[in-house]
Amino acid sequence: MTLFLTHPDADLHVNPPGHPEQVDRLPAIRAALAGMDLRRETPDPAGDDVLTLCHPQSYIDGLEAAAPADGWVQLDADTSLSPGSLRAARLAVGAGVAAVDAVMAGRAPNAFVAMRPPGHHAETARPMGFCLFGTVAIAAKHALDAHGLDRVAVVDFDVHHGNGTQDLLWDEARALFVSTHQSPLWPGTGEPSETGAHGNVMNRPLPPGSDGTAIRRAMEREILPRLDAFAPDLVLVSAGFDAHRADPLAQLGWETEDFAWITERLCDLAARHARGRVVSVLEGGYDLDALADATAAHVDVLRRRGHG
Ligand SMILES: [Zn+2]
Repeated sequence: MTLFLTHPDADLHVNPPGHPEQVDRLPAIRAALAGMDLRRETPDPAGDDVLTLCHPQSYIDGLEAAAPADGWVQLDADTSLSPGSLRAARLAVGAGVAAVDAVMAGRAPNAFVAMRPPGHHAETARPMGFCLFGTVAIAAKHALDAHGLDRVAVVDFDVHHGNGTQDLLWDEARALFVSTHQSPLWPGTGEPSETGAHGNVMNRPLPPGSDGTAIRRAMEREILPRLDAFAPDLVLVSAGFDAHRADPLAQLGWETEDFAWITERLCDLAARHARGRVVSVLEGGYDLDALADATAAHVDVLRRRGHG
């Protein structure tokens, strides 16, 4: 049965009023998945030993020292700490690692992690874009180091470039990082010319206004052939749902069905190379109705394919 990891303390990460990355996101997802046949567990927070797979100790200590007793500390224009933020961020990383452990042990065929804050913009020593720790990159490092895998793929379909994951995995020859994203759009990185230290990064920008046909064509013609050639032992997904046409932060025109189609293709990929092992981690998605719908479609594919 598909593993669903979330924790009520994720809601302790509170952004300032009016911020798009709001506490209501996870309750909307939990409600959308409430009737679904899933194995539900809560994670433990990641310790420094796990966070230092990708971040220097000085960075972790600096965030802990900066955390406020009340109110907010603004780390950059978009990214802030509330009193509960670091507990939430540690739980998010703990969930990513626990999902990898469960799937590698065969306790679940695949997994979805619904936690906040998101992670794919956090660089080695720099919080950025609502993100503090690189959850999916840490999960990839953990899968490679603790489980001895040879090849892990990370597929990021969030509408923004996963600059943090790219930074954290830039030198990691055992990982292939693939990002699709709108361009031009914040953070401005993610050009096809950015290919990693070992040719292990693939960026596929998509023009504003493009719809599901563009991503489906890119997947079939370029992205899936590249992933098949890599033959991953595990497929990690940075699942952002802000490419949905209703999302307020970007201008792609994906429908809920497009997220389901992508998920099917990633499950196909995992079935061919990785015994079906998929670990998907929530990133963005800021229209609550679209987020709930697209996440439910994504997880429903994981659930059906997990039973198969
Ligand atoms: Zn995003």
